[in-house]
Amino acid sequence: MSMTAYRGRFAPSPTGPLHAGSLLAAFGSWLLARHAGGRWAVRIEDIDPPRTVPGAIDQQLTALAAFGLASDDPIVHQSQRDALYQAALDRLLAEDKAFPCHCSRTDLADQHGIHHYCVGRTERARPAIRLRVPPGSLITFQDGLRGPIQQDVHAEVGDFVLRRADGYWAYQLAVVVDDADQRITDVVRGADLLDSTARQILLQQALGLPTPHYLHLPLLLEPDGHKLSKSDAARPVDPHAPVPALQQAWAQLGQDTAVLAQVSDVPALLDRARAGFDPARLPPGDIRLAADPA
Ligand code: GLU
Repeated sequence: MSMTAYRGRFAPSPTGPLHAGSLLAAFGSWLLARHAGGRWAVRIEDIDPPRTVPGAIDQQLTALAAFGLASDDPIVHQSQRDALYQAALDRLLAEDKAFPCHCSRTDLADQHGIHHYCVGRTERARPAIRLRVPPGSLITFQDGLRGPIQQDVHAEVGDFVLRRADGYWAYQLAVVVDDADQRITDVVRGADLLDSTARQILLQQALGLPTPHYLHLPLLLEPDGHKLSKSDAARPVDPHAPVPALQQAWAQLGQDTAVLAQVSDVPALLDRARAGFDPARLPPGDIRLAADPA
């Protein structure tokens, strides 16, 4: 038996109501955690006040409760964890793995936004802090669904931001610190974050933190190919009709629809889902939705 018990999580940003894609990530990560006999935690990623929509946290938590997806651990709010992020940043700065940077987006336009050396000409009162990403920062990982993934973080991303010039924490730093602090063993999330994973692994290595397993669930795409976005309030899921929403997410997760047919309440549905879930059926590719008849 493995010594490390499975710990999964769902980590929504409060940028709008949960949409069908967020329910897919929530239900998918919950199912994989339950299938492994593990724990599942909810973390609210409210570190970006300019993008936070008032009321969205309550709305998301009410929706998760209606879907029966309850966190096994007390819910963590990133907005209350400055000290943890600061400690990680201080460590990186002290070890010269991170540096203050005065470059603006305009300064980096000639480099396609990729930072390899400072070109900023004006000192900012409060510079951003970036991670140094030297040449050769090649990260390879095994995605649970998509197989081996490789990214040259130096060439493709460059030195990336850990604390923004506006003083807010960057997602990459907060997510890495929290996944480690919460001892998350398995990150299951939407494929829109696939491109962030190599950066997160590099940051884990810089901080001497363990790397969890990663599995990126298929993205739901609008009929025109765009991804669903919470901030566009795209296709919100109706927490007043949780059974059909969960049945739909189940089908999108490639599962046998017969397993959840004829259930009328959420607890019964989750029991059957837990027993009937087959990870081998998860679809590796993105899912393009049919046009909304409404
Ligand atoms: N907070 C991110 C979102 O809502 C998810 C972060 C993650 O799962 O790593 O899209």
